[in-house]
Amino acid sequence: MDKLSKENKEYLIKRNTNEYEVVIGLEVHAQVLSESKLFSTSPTKFGSEPNTQVSLVDAAFPGMLPVINEFCIKQAIKTGIGLNAKINKKSIFDRKNYFYADLPQGYQISQYKNPIVGEGTVTLDLPNGEKKIGIERLHLEQDAGKSIHDVDPNNTLVDLNRSGVALMEIVSKPDLRSLDEVNSYIKKLRSIMRYLGTCDGNMQEGSLRADVNVSVRKKGSKELGTRCEIKNVNSIKFMQMAIDYEANRQVDVLEEGGSIDQETRLFDTKKNETRSMRSKEDAHDYRYFPDPDLLPLELDENFINDIKKIFQNYQMKKRKDL
Ligand code: ADP
Ligand code: MG
Repeated sequence: MDKLSKENKEYLIKRNTNEYEVVIGLEVHAQVLSESKLFSTSPTKFGSEPNTQVSLVDAAFPGMLPVINEFCIKQAIKTGIGLNAKINKKSIFDRKNYFYADLPQGYQISQYKNPIVGEGTVTLDLPNGEKKIGIERLHLEQDAGKSIHDVDPNNTLVDLNRSGVALMEIVSKPDLRSLDEVNSYIKKLRSIMRYLGTCDGNMQEGSLRADVNVSVRKKGSKELGTRCEIKNVNSIKFMQMAIDYEANRQVDVLEEGGSIDQETRLFDTKKNETRSMRSKEDAHDYRYFPDPDLLPLELDENFINDIKKIFQNYQMKKRKDL
């Protein structure tokens, strides 16, 4: 494999006489710091005995209705303000339908076309200066349960403690260009959320994980290449290893005259390679539709302003601390 070139702080992959630029966009899943779940009163404590933090809502018993947790809404708004982002006064919870053993509802409640937080920016402090990374959106969604494959040799076990825990999905624009920028971006996001107390950022416990989108293009090209998405990577080092492997794989395909298929891949941390999981699903595969059990979320100006005030107090306090 060719060496990475870091001249001019650029991350370029060289093959034969060609130079390729790597383009990265991250979908970060940050677990909301909250004592109870997004639509139920079950506790969210990490590391409890399996299936001890599961209400009838989380287990999707027939007829159970979700009730929104106001605290989680406030946490998402706070984070949105921390990302210098637009807070949307009206947002909608949709059902994202798919089947999985650890998803008893048969759908995840998420936000699709109308997220609670819109565009924003995160500023990175890099060795060669500042760089602004665009934020596309932040939306709230439920986490799924956990399938456990390595306890019983003949069965998969399901733990629903995580089912229904609130997540913030923070989607960046495809503005990241190197492994160092990815490192700096994740650390910056984590420090913003830790400072605000909206996510503990603990990657070992899965409170912060990301889907990593990678494409390559010839240096100087204006158009973006076709991306592949690597699912659920839970450490910065693994993100960097996955991107490096994946970008080199794409360059090899292009150099051999092939083209990149848009697909969802997984990163095998033991073999240090990405493997195809499935061709990329389209939004219509999920049959998104507004959850009929939940009204649109309408925020009143004062509600948002009260949160902004807490924020200003933080900043005043920070200035005093300096
Ligand atoms: P999806 O749900 O289909 O993954 P999203 O809009 O939630 O779509 O996320 C798309 C992510 O992929 C964003 O982080 C975006 O920055 C990134 N992305 C889009 N196009 C490219 C590309 N050509 N190369 C790399 N990343 C990309
Ligand atoms: Mg995605």
